[in-house]
Amino acid sequence: MLQRIAKRLKKFVTPNVILARVGEDELAICFSSLEHINECPNLAAALLQEIEKEITIDDFSLYVTASIGISIYPHDGEDAKMLLTNANLAMRRAKEVGRSDWQLYSPLMDSETYKSYHLEKGLRNALLQDEFFIEYQPKVHTNSREIDSIEALIRWNHPEWGRVSPEDFIPLAEETHLIIELGDWVIQHVCKQLQQWKNQGLQIVPVSINVSSKHLLKRGFVEHVQQTLDRYNIDPSFIEFEVTESSIIQYEEHVKKVMDELKKIGVTFALDDFGTGFSSLSHLKDFEFNTLKIDKTFIQHATDKGKQQAITKSILYLAHALNMKVIAEGVETKEQLAFLQKHECSFIQGYIVSQPAAPQKIAEYLKKRFL
Ligand code: C2E
Ligand code: CA
Ligand code: CA
Repeated sequence: MLQRIAKRLKKFVTPNVILARVGEDELAICFSSLEHINECPNLAAALLQEIEKEITIDDFSLYVTASIGISIYPHDGEDAKMLLTNANLAMRRAKEVGRSDWQLYSPLMDSETYKSYHLEKGLRNALLQDEFFIEYQPKVHTNSREIDSIEALIRWNHPEWGRVSPEDFIPLAEETHLIIELGDWVIQHVCKQLQQWKNQGLQIVPVSINVSSKHLLKRGFVEHVQQTLDRYNIDPSFIEFEVTESSIIQYEEHVKKVMDELKKIGVTFALDDFGTGFSSLSHLKDFEFNTLKIDKTFIQHATDKGKQQAITKSILYLAHALNMKVIAEGVETKEQLAFLQKHECSFIQGYIVSQPAAPQKIAEYLKKRFL
């Protein structure tokens, strides 16, 4: 059986990889050309998958599981001995957690890195296990309360931890390429949902999707969006991407290029959380956003008569002058609503109208049209 497994693992062996048997039932594999620690999860999963395939010896079908411990040079040891010792420790921990698992060695098992490491592993697993779902929050005309569009907000229901806030896992996903997989997942599910609503005979409205600049800059993003729209037969004008200023600032030119391509096919763009970051006027001018969303922190203080109120009024004035659609987000109270009506903010989003809701609820809203 060991021979069979070794034979299977040989397919991972290239001139940069060494495979060895280091104990009775212990194998070690050394990858000397990994670019980044992020490659480990995939690699570990691939190794486990190979090992777990059925093995037939004579007339017997055998199934084995494995536990993998990972150590990384020079972080977890400067020589082979130290690296093997630490990989071994991590492997034991993997065994404790449950067979068929992997663990990265970490000297700080109780620290933040350990938590975020678990969160990251959880995230990856969540995509496989279908633990994500999407809620939708309507944006309505301030005066008539007619639904104008809806925002898609991702949710994660973890089997042990319960509901994990996107504010906790999105930043982490952004650090790894998981944000791209997650983003693709959201785009696909939104298109699918729109198709379902359409098939139910509902008159659909545009959906806005929060997108990270990292995802926007992924090669082939535009084509991918186009393909997904085609696949579900959705007109591009039904999709709006919400981006934040801080996310575009680092790669302005690139982002602008991708945005222009998407606008050409009919997708629109909103600038999210306006007022919190740089709030640069030249960004407003150069990027030609269709929509400006005033951040909820301003709206929550809009009735305080202080500086925040002055800023909110100026943002509204500016957006009107630039011919942009303005949406106030996080509207909770009647006073806030009255203020926004008085200053002619055309659209609102917030608990006063509706919390983010499940697709069935949104279907009811779409039937009513006015909230
Ligand atoms: P955001 O884009 O600013 O989304 C608005 C947030 O405000 C949502 O929080 C929403 O539930 C919340 N909200 C809506 N109305 C009210 C209100 O009246 N009062 C208050 N206090 N809050 C309100 P949520 O869903 O926790 O999302 C947090 C952030 O996570 C989002 O902020 C967005 O930046 C990010 N996010 C959510 N879904 C996605 C996604 O699919 N992709 C990406 N890249 N980011 C996402
Ligand atoms: Ca948003
Ligand atoms: Ca926002």
